[in-house]
Amino acid sequence: MSRQKRVIMAVIIFGSFIYIVLTQAVHILGGAPGEPVHPEIRKFCSSASRKNVNIEYEDSNLPVIYVVTPTYRRPEMVAELTRLGQTLTMVKRIHWIVAEDSHTCSPPITSLLDRLGLSYTHLASPMPEVYRREKYVPRGVSNRRAALQWVQENGEDTGVLYFLDDDNAIDIRLFNEMRLTQTVSMWPVGLIGEYTVSSPVVKGNQVVGFYDGWPAGRKFQVDMAGFAVNIGYLKKQKKVTMPYIAGHEEDGFLKSLNLNLKDIEVKADGCTNILVWHTRTAKNPSRTLRLAHHQATNIKPLTDNMRKMGRLTMSAEQRTNLKFLVQLGKTPSEALGMLQKVYGMRQCHAHVFLSGARGSKRAGRTWKMTPGVEDPQRAGMRPMLSVSSRWCVTIVG
Ligand code: UDP
Ligand code: MN
Repeated sequence: MSRQKRVIMAVIIFGSFIYIVLTQAVHILGGAPGEPVHPEIRKFCSSASRKNVNIEYEDSNLPVIYVVTPTYRRPEMVAELTRLGQTLTMVKRIHWIVAEDSHTCSPPITSLLDRLGLSYTHLASPMPEVYRREKYVPRGVSNRRAALQWVQENGEDTGVLYFLDDDNAIDIRLFNEMRLTQTVSMWPVGLIGEYTVSSPVVKGNQVVGFYDGWPAGRKFQVDMAGFAVNIGYLKKQKKVTMPYIAGHEEDGFLKSLNLNLKDIEVKADGCTNILVWHTRTAKNPSRTLRLAHHQATNIKPLTDNMRKMGRLTMSAEQRTNLKFLVQLGKTPSEALGMLQKVYGMRQCHAHVFLSGARGSKRAGRTWKMTPGVEDPQRAGMRPMLSVSSRWCVTIVG
């Protein structure tokens, strides 16, 4: 090796060493718990500022409610957002911020937002990989943080910020309750936790504590759907944040607002009514598609549409073919490309990587599948999958 090459190698090795030491030092010494060490990726996709076309008269003096909905790609995503979005069409002066846990914005969501006729902003911000690997994953934090930044930069001071997850159910009367929030307002959330309800404890119209099945040392024992914040008040706070700590997102956020219990505005008839529920949607297991006899029927475009909206599985036939192609010496991307050609998986952005499993007795037979670059938020979530067992491919449009 020439002297020049040796110097370059030494610089690279030394540089990497310094980088690792510094990032670890920042991790250990610096930053409050739950604060990200690496830069977060944020992508602004589109926005519309308009009158709600579904409502005849909208008083432009009413404060705007900025509803932040984190979401992520899965078969239920379009269904959840359609239901929630259509509820929001009934409400005056709403700006809906849909923030995807992803590198990119999903086209079916873009067209939904366009159709609904609401003011909206569509963002994407993938969860950093380091949190994806944690035992308790802080779900929806990166995307909520991106939306928070958007609200801090673009929200009207008279407006109100409200976090509403994509699977929750809401009574539109709650928006009237929260619209005139001056600092932070709170109310009960139904269908949650040990007590099936989570609520501030109120005495003489003041919050004196919390009734919640999971205290966990939290100062503010509330669910994400149980409070709203005035934007002018939010903007006055020095360091607003939401920590990447599962279960402590709300508490961390509210603490960062320097909020005292006595400042909380009590809503929903002194916290006696339930106007929002922490409902959850059952996960739909992946199903196998058999398309061999349907290349010329409606089933083909139907399943193409389903692929654009979520996840489909490979059929046993496709699995066998994939295995066969790999045994013929095709590279994974060649093999997948051929399958896409035959089965018309034009929307398939997933890449299948096949490799002998290290340490496996059946090395070479057990194939590892990791998701492709288009959908990195799923990375690290899938275990090794054997070809003969369940095998699914994430296909996103
Ligand atoms: N979410 C997300 N990324 C994920 C998992 C969840 O953005 O990897 C979103 C999800 O769409 C929902 C919110 O974060 O709006 C809370 O997630 P979930 O409903 O799964 O959590 P739980 O109801 O158990 O708090
Ligand atoms: Mn949920």
